[in-house]
Amino acid sequence: MIKYGELLTKTKAYATLDNDAKDGRLNHCYMIMGDDELAVSGLCDLFAQRILCKEGGCGKCISCQKVADGNHEAVVEPNSLKADGIREFIEKVYVKGDGDVKVMVIKQLDKVDVKVQNFLLKSLEEPVDGVVFVLGVVRQTAVLETIKSRSKKLAVTAFSKAQLKEYFSDGFRGYSTALIDEATDCCMGSLSRCEELLKDENFAGDMTEVVFLLKELTSTKVNLKMQRRLDIKDGRLVRYLDMMQLICGVLLKRKTGVRVEGFEKINCLADSFNIASLVNFNELLIEAKKKAESYCKDENILDNLFIKLMEVKYLCR
Ligand SMILES: [Zn+2]
Repeated sequence: MIKYGELLTKTKAYATLDNDAKDGRLNHCYMIMGDDELAVSGLCDLFAQRILCKEGGCGKCISCQKVADGNHEAVVEPNSLKADGIREFIEKVYVKGDGDVKVMVIKQLDKVDVKVQNFLLKSLEEPVDGVVFVLGVVRQTAVLETIKSRSKKLAVTAFSKAQLKEYFSDGFRGYSTALIDEATDCCMGSLSRCEELLKDENFAGDMTEVVFLLKELTSTKVNLKMQRRLDIKDGRLVRYLDMMQLICGVLLKRKTGVRVEGFEKINCLADSFNIASLVNFNELLIEAKKKAESYCKDENILDNLFIKLMEVKYLCR
């Protein structure tokens, strides 16, 4: 079985492919796009199943099982995303297979260097009979426009809180209700994030701490006290920076009128920041993360971030 198959077959992206297959009008190249890495990669597998299965993607037959196990002879994936791997992959487009259809899958096209992506162009411009490309893309800006324009683009949209809650509450999955509530509330409809949060039992507590801190951060005096509340030992600084970025992103979306389900615990911050200050805040966080990557001292990074953050909050008043 393909992980999260029950959820993924209910997506619009899957329904589109399903209709094309039913009509006997498969496109020569599908591009599955979305920032939810697990959903994108799972859909690539489901697409291969649907294209190759005689029963419409039943998930049970030998063909479907082989796809799920990663050993179907008609599914081709590159051995590596480097130039050699992709060159070898493309050569296989022109090798006649045993079956009627061959599915060429690259689950992370955005991780392939743009120069190397060019290798794909010829086979997309002059489609080969019986060959269907399925390309997964997480970072859209990292993919050549010429490839996008030759693909049928399907976006993976966020799952609803209710959908995720129902799925993970299934007794077989073994998560506590409190953990599921927290994860589905803060994952913004992303399977990848939801799975990450379900594995992270300290997430709820740490998140509450970060929200408290952002709210209370008002004067230099409080600043020091707040800083000490964060335990940044063992490389935990980046984790807190990620949380702040998440909060910042959700607040920004809401301020600009984009609906984001859940995340009620950050409502208390809505009046502390305006759009301009959130944009600044996000830039500060990106800068802090870069510093953390270049091995600056964690205490100094946090110190600097908090001082600047206070300025940002002050200017917003
Ligand atoms: Zn099947």
